[in-house]
Amino acid sequence: MENSNFSFNQELQGIENKTVSLHEYRCSQTAKIGCNDCKGCNQCCENMGNSIVLDPYDMWMLTSNLRLAGNTPVTYEILTCEDGPLELSNHNGLILPNIKMVVDDRPGHSHFDTGICPFLNVDGRCTIHSIRTGLCRLYPLGRNFYPDKITYFVLTEELGCPSKKKSYVKISDWLEIPDMEKYEAFQLKWHNLKKEVLVKMQALNHSMEEQKTFLLHFLKTFYQTPYSSKLYQEFYQEFEQRLLEFTKQFFS
Ligand code: SF4
Ligand code: SF4
Repeated sequence: MENSNFSFNQELQGIENKTVSLHEYRCSQTAKIGCNDCKGCNQCCENMGNSIVLDPYDMWMLTSNLRLAGNTPVTYEILTCEDGPLELSNHNGLILPNIKMVVDDRPGHSHFDTGICPFLNVDGRCTIHSIRTGLCRLYPLGRNFYPDKITYFVLTEELGCPSKKKSYVKISDWLEIPDMEKYEAFQLKWHNLKKEVLVKMQALNHSMEEQKTFLLHFLKTFYQTPYSSKLYQEFYQEFEQRLLEFTKQFFS
């Protein structure tokens, strides 16, 4: 087994080796993760540091659905600008966009809090719920990547959801992502590509300049260049095309 995915919670990286002993589920199975619609709680939208990393599917979802005043589409540049809700950070050697926590200035909240998600409203609800990121959907689950499949595990109590009255929910229903077969195939390819990119980076370790150019090209190919797809089926095709071109250019 390829031990665990990009963590939702930064601390998860520290327990990666322990996840192997947790019960693993496939997306067609049920797990005790239902939390009564999160009523009164938004713990997993606060103080998450830079751990909510976006993948290309997330970027496509946000850029194809978010609009500014006047119906102007929201672009990668708008999302990642200084005042935007995303930032670029180093994630295990890759430069990737993540949700940028902002100062929690909601009435009654401590100024010492280290931040909340900019998509959270004053009522503690997600304003982009239907297009929230894959890692937001996943919580309180983690993922393990195998060569040919993905399994899921429930995060331990200290990292997971504090709700005491959990119900059993089918994992694919929890994620609310259409066509899980296609989505998991995409996730596996994306996971493998990131590993290959890291290996390539090590091979380029003699040249910082080459590493930077390579990382920027990766970012441009999979995030910055606008996706034209309207439907998720088209997105997967577009992703495949980019993957093919990128692989041809850098790995052949
Ligand atoms: S920590 Fe659990 S109950 Fe709270 S918002 Fe997250 S999923 Fe919902
Ligand atoms: S995008 Fe929505 S679900 Fe995800 S952290 Fe932000 S407010 Fe929470």
